[in-house]
Amino acid sequence: MLKDEKAVVVFSGGQDSTTCLFWALKQFKEVEVVTFDYNQRHRLEIECAKNIADELGVRHHILDMSLLNQLAPNALTRNDIEVKEGEDGELPSTFVPGRNLLFISFAGVLASQVGAKHIVTGVCETDFSGYPDCRDIFIKSLNVTLNLSMDKEFVIHTPLMWLDKAETWQLADELNALDFVREKTLTCYNGVIADGCGECPACQLRRKGLEKYLTTREAL
Ligand SMILES: [Zn+2]
Repeated sequence: MLKDEKAVVVFSGGQDSTTCLFWALKQFKEVEVVTFDYNQRHRLEIECAKNIADELGVRHHILDMSLLNQLAPNALTRNDIEVKEGEDGELPSTFVPGRNLLFISFAGVLASQVGAKHIVTGVCETDFSGYPDCRDIFIKSLNVTLNLSMDKEFVIHTPLMWLDKAETWQLADELNALDFVREKTLTCYNGVIADGCGECPACQLRRKGLEKYLTTREAL
């Protein structure tokens, strides 16, 4: 029974990973979260994750991943470069190659050390925006690799893998967490909690999904 087991959630304090955290709290007896600190554009992201973890009473690990700055100076990690959408199939400028490979691998090492069999991540193939390590096939492959590397039987869970943004809001609602996710999470590239600045690509995606879901819900 999953109910008796322990999980580590890869957690940024955003809509997706917070929804995953609520999902995990329902599935598992014990849940811990891990946030990767790679000198995010906004330190507020770490604060926001910390506050949510505190409020939900889960143990919060913050791992220093500032080496990502050396590997991939780009808009997410450096303040002096503007966030741009990818054009003509190019990767968006927020892309850090192999980021999920690194993050989920480190989450695996942590899971091993805290005695957790389950790893939960909000990666999603549906709004696959050019990130190859968001694909389901990659996660399945990494699951096998992690198990072989540590001689464990980890299970990587991806509750959002096939959901669009509206369905992610729906999942939050089903977990009785819609208001919490809406009011306390940070997705905005400009560092504005909750409904955000309304202008950046992340805010637009988030709002479009929420409006779509709320319209569907009202129609029921
Ligand atoms: Zn924004």
